[in-house]
Amino acid sequence: MRVLVTGGAGYIGSATVQALLAKGHDVEILDNFSTGHRKALADVPLHEGTLLDDSFVSSVFANPFDAVIHFAAFSLVGESVTDPLKYYRNNVAGSLNLIKSVADGGAKRFVFSSTAAVYGEPDKMPIVESTPTVPVNPYGRTKLAIEYCLGDAASAVGFPAVALRYFNAAGAVPGLGEDHEPETHLIPRLLRSLVDENVSFKIFGNDYDTPDGTCIRDYIHIADLAVAHIKAIEAVDEIGLTQINLGTGDGQSVQEIVECASRITGREISPAITSRRAGDPPRLVAANDKAKSILGWIPKKSDLDSIITDAWNWHSNNPDGYNDRG
Ligand code: UDP
Repeated sequence: MRVLVTGGAGYIGSATVQALLAKGHDVEILDNFSTGHRKALADVPLHEGTLLDDSFVSSVFANPFDAVIHFAAFSLVGESVTDPLKYYRNNVAGSLNLIKSVADGGAKRFVFSSTAAVYGEPDKMPIVESTPTVPVNPYGRTKLAIEYCLGDAASAVGFPAVALRYFNAAGAVPGLGEDHEPETHLIPRLLRSLVDENVSFKIFGNDYDTPDGTCIRDYIHIADLAVAHIKAIEAVDEIGLTQINLGTGDGQSVQEIVECASRITGREISPAITSRRAGDPPRLVAANDKAKSILGWIPKKSDLDSIITDAWNWHSNNPDGYNDRG
């Protein structure tokens, strides 16, 4: 298939481009490098520009695509709270331009990179796709707004579209890893603290109602996420319009991650425990039955050892990440 990947220079986007190319797809990337990395770019046609520029976006679709996979978005929860309009403008308004081009015939199918943040803080675990969507921060609300917009446009025009709701993306694939600025996520912060003395790592609270008191999340390897996107573009014609969780169905605590990282890196890691980070629910775990039954997707690399081994390989070989900050 001829596939346009927006955000193809980003963490999950670049891994998906790598997997699409390995499967023989014909890929083009749209990115503005606001958070992506030129060093993460595959050698494929690049459309450099912003989704906010509607004439640029429609020009990208001059030659229609078989599928669009839409990753490009801002994704820092804390920043979305302090600067929500930046998130609504970039994520929602940018996506509107993209969806409009697809609705106008620019592509046959659409796969959207959504998030578990659309669910907010549900009480019942694991989280199924019919769990009410009550996002608790602007980031989650922008993703949910795009899901609505995409769903309405897809129904009106009749193109198949699927929203993939990821849980905690983690790990690395050959040559491509996690490098955000600022980095807020657990695994990259923990591993970077072992290779960069300027990065400190602390556990945010050990008084949660979980077996060891630290928060539990469902970590999913980006190699598995990439496979799910390929399965989604291949299956979306039959699926129609839907939302699918991407997680393992199993959760690991912060403490378990620290212990696993200590074992795999051979370093003694004994982080300080600080107070809870605002807005962290104690436990978020996906039900992934729908992904299994509809996409035939089974995570293969998302055991914690594989995730930490691959992430450590990336961070220890790239202590400054992509080293492309100004
Ligand atoms: N966390 C932590 N120290 C850090 C970063 C994260 O203890 O430096 C904890 C965080 O409080 C949460 C878990 O690790 O309980 C996962 O956080 P992350 O930001 O990776 O993902 P989230 O689930 O918040 O999107």
